[in-house]
Amino acid sequence: MGIFDTVFLTPPRHCRNCGAEIDQVQTKAFEPGLREYEVGDMITGSPIVSGVIREDLYCPTCNETPQKVYFAIWHALLVGVCDDVDTAETRIRDVDRAELLDYLAQHQQNALQWHDRFSRLYGELQNLHDYEQRSKLGSDDAVRENPKFFRIREFVNSEDPLGALIAANKPVNPEDETEVAGEEESG
Ligand SMILES: [Zn+2]
Repeated sequence: MGIFDTVFLTPPRHCRNCGAEIDQVQTKAFEPGLREYEVGDMITGSPIVSGVIREDLYCPTCNETPQKVYFAIWHALLVGVCDDVDTAETRIRDVDRAELLDYLAQHQQNALQWHDRFSRLYGELQNLHDYEQRSKLGSDDAVRENPKFFRIREFVNSEDPLGALIAANKPVNPEDETEVAGEEESG
């Protein structure tokens, strides 16, 4: 269906046609760029600053679009995904500062987590690269006993050090698992 964005539904909805659980909705209402949003995210390219946008909720189980969802947007911030327009409008009116702080705290936490994950991956890759460069020069055993390479010992002792390193850094949250699965399908 071309380029779209995905908005995750918390809590998930149930299809009015077949009853299946639906946990996300695809939309082209924003500036579509395969972005993933949840409540508390700033919408990139929102066509409105504040207001309600209606979207069809597609059910992948029965291939029908039996109901709508309503994005409640307040100053380009997604503050709710509602089942009717009145709830969405009320939601926009009721945004308070404590909620904004919660969104900020959540995003800061996520940023820290990604920073830690990237730092670990980068550090281990650099370490492995150093290890391989030195192995070319000297005896493999001497390099292996070097304490500098202690943190990647489990990798260099395996048959496929780079593969082991990649596996150890595999994303674990469901959102990333989807990305990993998607890459395997297309590749
Ligand atoms: Zn359905």
